[in-house]
Order: sequence, then C-alpha cells, then structure tokens
Amino acid sequence: VAKTRKGNQYKIFEHKLHGKNDYILIFESKLRHAIKENTLELHYQPKIDAKTEKLIGMEALLRWRDPELGQIPPSEFIPFAEECGLIHDIGEWVLRNTALQIKEWEQQSDFNVRVAVNISPLHFKKVDFVERLVKIMDETKVRPEHLEIELTEMSMMDYNEELINKINELKKLGFTIAIDDFGTGYSSLGYLKEFPIDTLKIDRTFIVNINQGESGIAMVAAIISLAHALKLKVVAEGVETDVELEILKRYNCEYVQGYYYSKPLNATEFTSKFQNEF
Ligand code: C2E
Ligand code: MG
Ligand code: MG
Ligand code: MG
Repeated sequence: VAKTRKGNQYKIFEHKLHGKNDYILIFESKLRHAIKENTLELHYQPKIDAKTEKLIGMEALLRWRDPELGQIPPSEFIPFAEECGLIHDIGEWVLRNTALQIKEWEQQSDFNVRVAVNISPLHFKKVDFVERLVKIMDETKVRPEHLEIELTEMSMMDYNEELINKINELKKLGFTIAIDDFGTGYSSLGYLKEFPIDTLKIDRTFIVNINQGESGIAMVAAIISLAHALKLKVVAEGVETDVELEILKRYNCEYVQGYYYSKPLNATEFTSKFQNEF
C-alpha cells in the first residue's frame, strides 16, 4: 500500500478523486488495471542530428489515459508507481512494447536507428534486470543494437561496483546507455569516467536558459565540452526555437530533441512522418 506523500505530489488525481476515500488505493488499482489491460501507450519523439537534420533515433515516452481521470502525465504516475512498487511491471511493459514496435518497424522497412527507453533507478537496480531484459529481447527477437537505456543522473548517485558491472554487461551485449536530465542531479561527476556511457542528455532547463543571456550559454557550452572531453555524444532536450538550435550547433552539440522538430507522436503518426528516414 502506497504511503501518502507530503506536499502536492499527486495533485491531479487527488483533485479529481476528491471526496472519495482511499484515492491512493483507487489510483493504484487503476494503474494496475491499465498495465494488465494494455491501455498504456507509447509515444515516440525523434532525436535529430543537428548538422544534417536527419533522424538518428527516438525516445519512447509512456502515456496513460484513464476513462475517469483523463490523461495523466508520467511526471505524476511514474513517481507514484515507484512508491507503490508498480514500476517494475511498468518498466517491463515499456521494454516489451518498445521491442514489439521495433520488430514491426523492422518488418516494414530497413530499420537502422535506436529507440531509447527510460528506466527507473528502482527497476534498474533489481538484481535480475539484465536477465529479464535479455529474455524480452529474445522473445521479441530484437537485437540490443536497437535499444538505448536512459538512466537519470539520479540513478548514478552513490554508485557501486554492482552498478558498474551491470552497465558494463549491458554494453557488452550491445545496448547503449544515455544519462538523462544531465545537470539536474546532485551526484558528483565521478561516475562519468567510471561507466561506459555513450550519451549525455542536457536537461531542458539548461536549454531554456540559453535565452537568458551569456551565463546560460556558458553553462551549455561547458556541459558540451565536458561531454566531448569524455568522448560522449550530446543530446539537447527540449529544443523549441531556432535560436536555441543555432547556439547548440555553434558549440557542436551532436543531437537535438524537442518540439522544434516534433512533439512525441503515437506509433502511427511517427511511422508516417519518419519512416523514410529509418
Ligand atoms: P524525460 O525522459 O527527460 O523526457 C523528456 C520529456 O520532455 C518528455 O515529457 C517530453 O515530452 C518532454 N519534451 C520533449 N521536448 C520538449 C520541448 O521542446 N518542450 C517541452 N516543454 N517539453 C519537451 P513527458 O513525456 O511528459 O515525460 C516526462 C518524464 O517522465 C520523462 O522525462 C521521464 O523521466 C518520465 N517518463 C516518461 N516515460 C517514461 C517511461 O516509460 N518510464 C519511466 N521510468 N519514466 C518515463
Ligand atoms: Mg528520457
Ligand atoms: Mg530528460
Ligand atoms: Mg526531463
């Protein structure tokens, strides 16, 4: 049973289920039901090469619409799922359904890009994470070369040998690893050289700050140059304007993701818009 959080963490459903007792239990059973009945949905947002403007991959982003509550954002139900223990089932659902979508794209056309999935630190830290991931890849017959794992910087806090081994194992199998929301965590930078990471995703808050003058630009430039010194590629998250794009290009940021190119799209929309770039 989920514990109530302090503050306004679950404001949307708390509000909508107002007046009902045990709204946390109701929410939990709704989410459990959505996983079981396959009513969750994945949307995909393109990652674009800043120089060539070609598609280099996409990120799978989870969507949940409840008949009674309407659309609930992941920023609301993911922390909840982490707290009530449903995050493992959600993570496995995301991995399996991303793999099934990749398989479908592979059968329709040449498919030479990677799909990134977000994995919660709680899920990633499970001892059998790699084993179960490999099982999903075997069952769906999708190669690890098509999958990237996005881990937030928070996942890297107090890293230990077990975490390093796990990431090394994934790399050996052919998966790639991206650090998500880079710059927002409280972790030291030490982990960056301990892990065979491929990509840093600069958090959107830094991209927004590009428009706030020289210091905002200096931060982004510093992150990009740190990444390049460590031989990592950089994705800028939440790029919305051509001004942001131009500055990112000036500092040799390789890839961009954001509304400037496209919002996350459902599989059908994504296919019709980008299939010729697979
Ligand atoms: P994230 O992984 O950093 O994903 C990027 C978020 O930024 C997405 O929000 C995306 O829709 C949004 N975004 C992309 N471009 C722009 C832009 O130009 N402007 C603005 N304002 N926003 C933009 P979304 O889909 O609401 O997801 C929020 C967070 O929820 C994700 O952040 C991720 O941490 C988490 N999440 C989403 N799907 C999953 C999932 O399947 N599993 C887990 N564990 N977490 C997920
Ligand atoms: Mg992400
Ligand atoms: Mg992010
Ligand atoms: Mg983010």
